[in-house]
Amino acid sequence: MSASSSTPTLLATVQELPSIDRLLHHEAFTALQARYGHRQVVQQTRAHVQHLREQALQGVLPLQQVQPEPLAQAVQQRLQQQTRSRLQPIFNLSGTVLHTNLGRALLPDDAVQAVARVMRQPVNLEFNMDAGTRGDRDDLIEPLIRELTGAEAVTVVNNNAAAVLLLLNTLSQGRETIVSRGELVEIGGAFRIPDIMHSAGAQLHEVGTTNRTHLHDYERALSEQTALLMKVHCSNYAIQGFTKSVSIQQVAALAHAHGLPAVEDLGSGTLVDLGQWGLPNEPTVRQSLAAGADLVSFSGDKLLGGPQAGLIVGSHELIAQIKRNPLKRALRVGKLTLAALEAVLQLYRQPETLHERLTTLRLFTRPLQAMQAQAERLLPALQHWCGEGYTVGIQPVRSQIGSGALPDEVLPSVGLRIGTLSGGRNGRALLQLEQRLRALPQPVIGRLHDNALWLDVRCLEPEFEAAFLAQLAEAQS
Ligand SMILES: *Cc1c(COP(=O)(O)O)cnc(C)c1O
Repeated sequence: MSASSSTPTLLATVQELPSIDRLLHHEAFTALQARYGHRQVVQQTRAHVQHLREQALQGVLPLQQVQPEPLAQAVQQRLQQQTRSRLQPIFNLSGTVLHTNLGRALLPDDAVQAVARVMRQPVNLEFNMDAGTRGDRDDLIEPLIRELTGAEAVTVVNNNAAAVLLLLNTLSQGRETIVSRGELVEIGGAFRIPDIMHSAGAQLHEVGTTNRTHLHDYERALSEQTALLMKVHCSNYAIQGFTKSVSIQQVAALAHAHGLPAVEDLGSGTLVDLGQWGLPNEPTVRQSLAAGADLVSFSGDKLLGGPQAGLIVGSHELIAQIKRNPLKRALRVGKLTLAALEAVLQLYRQPETLHERLTTLRLFTRPLQAMQAQAERLLPALQHWCGEGYTVGIQPVRSQIGSGALPDEVLPSVGLRIGTLSGGRNGRALLQLEQRLRALPQPVIGRLHDNALWLDVRCLEPEFEAAFLAQLAEAQS
């Protein structure tokens, strides 16, 4: 060995590993136990010592690492990792505003506060304050729903899939529901109209063809077995070309002429005319009811901009029948959902300020100029963070509304386009970058597309911009 070589690292043998018992009595470990509890500390200490044992057996364990302090530090890291919430905030720069995998609608402050308020104290969830008797949780939002949609009554369940299930099970179990073939949609994952029908015990009677269904198709399908006529909003696809569908108005008139109810699954179910903000028009819940639908079902966390929930609104009598179904009890929502939903519905009473106060609508209507200016502020930090080999530029992009709402409709937006200097076949470099963004303390989700990684700034509200920039700067140093 030459004199110039550095001091060799001293290696530990298995015999030099401290016993778990001895470690737990060391002050560094008693501090950990005070914070995380005995059981978790023992668990993670065992796991870590086992890891060191394997290294020692391979002859690669530095002696220094078996000292109590570094050991405690390593165990603390494991504990931090273990106790971190698995449900963590991220930055959604994917360009899809209502992203089902990212939790759909963001709740406005009013709703966040309302939820916090009812979490800590008893509330009148099912308690009629006037009579001092048992109440009905749906009554909490019924007056609001009546005012905003013209419906007579409402019932709220876990999500719109549950709403459709409950509705069909109540009104069509063992009997037929007539639906146009062109409306037998699959809404991502496991929600398919035919499957839900089946689970609900309802018999599906498809009518018409994929692209065209006429009123006489419904008419011919009517029989003793018919329980219901149903329309389903083709949320996530559009049929173009030689098409024909029958309006809810016509379907409802036909149903009523035969003493049957007509229902519509509106999917997103917006409560207001989105056209007033230059957004594409969606049928509103009020319109569907006014056109004759006896019941309308829709999600709480799509265009409505509220918590995950499914609402069924419409005829008092049919809603009462639905509420008597034992499945309603299995699918009902809790006080947190109702608190958030009520607060969101309250915002709709003041349409003038809705685009400022309702988070989803605020995101849909962000001015292009503001997004352009924001992209310009973000660009230098992002370029610096990406490092050599990448180029960041600003380009117009189109955001999606998402969650099956308005599939064709896209909102002009501003994107940061990250490409590689080499251009060409750069898939690996882009994947690496995408992974680095996902590995940040608050992960950033972008979109790989057309030889580049795109970050659509629409959903980075100014309120969160500083945190976004700070984490890029920190990751850098
Ligand atoms: C989204 C959607 C559903 C499912 O709603 P969830 O709230 O996600 O359960 C059902 N029907 C239609 C038409 C939809 O667009």
